[in-house]
Amino acid sequence: MVAPILRRAPGTLLSTSSALLRVHSRKVAAPAFSRFLSTHITNLACEDHEPGFLGSVETYFDRKQDDMVSREERHVYPRAAKISGVSEKSLAGIKAVDSVLSVKFPVEIDADTHIIIEGYRAQHSRHRLPTKGGIRFSDEVDLQEVEALASLMTFKCAVVDVPFGGAKGGVKMDPKKFTASQLERITRRYTMELCQKNFIGPGIDVPAPDVGTGPREMSWIMDTYRQFNPQDVNAAGCVTGKPISQGGVRGRNEATGLGVYFGIREFLQFPEVQKMTGLDGKIAGKTVIVQGFGNVGYWAAKFFHNNGAKIIGIGEHDVSAYDPNGIDVEAIFKHRTEKGSFRGYGNVEIIHEPITVMERECDILIPAALERQIGLKNVKKIKAKIIGEAANGPMTPDAHDYLVSKGKVIIPDLLLNAGGVTVSYFEWLKNLSHVRFGRMSRKWEEAGKSKLLTLVEENAGRLLTPQERRAVIHGAEEHELVYSGLEDTMIGACEETRATAFAKNTDFRTAALVNAIQKISTVTTQSGQMFL
Ligand code: NAD
Repeated sequence: MVAPILRRAPGTLLSTSSALLRVHSRKVAAPAFSRFLSTHITNLACEDHEPGFLGSVETYFDRKQDDMVSREERHVYPRAAKISGVSEKSLAGIKAVDSVLSVKFPVEIDADTHIIIEGYRAQHSRHRLPTKGGIRFSDEVDLQEVEALASLMTFKCAVVDVPFGGAKGGVKMDPKKFTASQLERITRRYTMELCQKNFIGPGIDVPAPDVGTGPREMSWIMDTYRQFNPQDVNAAGCVTGKPISQGGVRGRNEATGLGVYFGIREFLQFPEVQKMTGLDGKIAGKTVIVQGFGNVGYWAAKFFHNNGAKIIGIGEHDVSAYDPNGIDVEAIFKHRTEKGSFRGYGNVEIIHEPITVMERECDILIPAALERQIGLKNVKKIKAKIIGEAANGPMTPDAHDYLVSKGKVIIPDLLLNAGGVTVSYFEWLKNLSHVRFGRMSRKWEEAGKSKLLTLVEENAGRLLTPQERRAVIHGAEEHELVYSGLEDTMIGACEETRATAFAKNTDFRTAALVNAIQKISTVTTQSGQMFL
């Protein structure tokens, strides 16, 4: 059977069979993309023997100390699986990646050129459905990275009580090398594969943005899914992180960065953290370095800056910017957007080996770029008291254990960057209910509060000013409800992590993972064992 052809030239989306015929006659090698994104930096940070991303996730889960190379500073702690008390049988099921889709498809780049693109989607756990996780566009994408990220998503959803299983997707190409219309073709063609193989749908698997993708790509994904599923009234829920006009929710764009802010703010208030770090509980005046100035890093920096912290360093893949007096986040963002680099911005020091910005003195370090940025080669130079993992997998297990042994507070990725999936969950709920949050109740709440205020005025013998009245009766807008739901979620998850860390006498990463494993185990056990 010939697969459906979605669109023909000039923005050609090819049916698999016709495309392959044409590609055989005209096939060209994919361009040799630069690998600046992480390989070089990873080599500066990690020893050869340190595990890759998937190996790191497995290490945190259950790898025993004998599996690791012995080093004198390495403190070996029991890993999460052991502490969780969950049976070996359940643990094996929780750890395994459930399903993996690996595709190669041709895309027409121009009238004379087709290239073959590789894409992946891994569904780590389907103990809850749909599965959920971002799609990454990067020439560094490979299957082990996608599987690692999918596993992390399962644990992350459990940590913040979002009722999804974990998944992740990746397309191996550097989006910076393609025009918008080429990217649209690649995105739609990848989505077609997901549709045909039943790897996408509001009740099956729901992608979201990750490195190299954003609202625009999510919009293309939804539109393509709709073409294949015109009868699906819930089609908008097949992907999250969409523009508002396409069913997105207000607050999703900044959600991960805002969650990072809420999480670190919460940890700062824990007396144990204050004792470990010598810091007081306030955000104001804290010095912060952020590595990675994309979606997550920009918004995290902005929320810290707006709340009185001093952003003294910002790292990017080409150069980093440093100013001990503090950097104006909005101004440097504008400069970089216009000029493509921090170079030439104000009086900041430009650091040409960008990774070294993380070695500068600061209270809080926020890696928000990619995995494996802190390893055995650079971990001893890290001076921050708190390391908040906004990126997924930014440090290796040996680096983690070293920092823990030195009394540093590490707020782990599976907890700290869960704001994105939390608000994705809100977006999915909005899509399934087909109504904007607050639409049915806002005016009703305002009318009720107004009546109450009138009674208060009568009893108090004074009328409120219009401003005072407005401040009290104002009914919540959608973004305010989203922010409040996110804040509540992050506070709850941080508190649960803290409680387990102190009950089990372990670090915060292990504690978050223990909580996740126990919750997943409860769901799988209580649903019966027949399909395990
Ligand atoms: P992004 O593509 O918007 O931003 C990444 C930024 O990091 C880019 O500006 C890039 O130039 C920079 N960068 C790349 N390599 C670097 C290096 N070696 N040193 C310094 N900077 C470098 O991606 P994002 O969505 O902000 O994601 C960042 C991290 O956060 C990833 O690990 C991702 O998996 C994780 N994350 C993202 C979300 C989300 O909602 N977007 C949610 C949870 C976790």
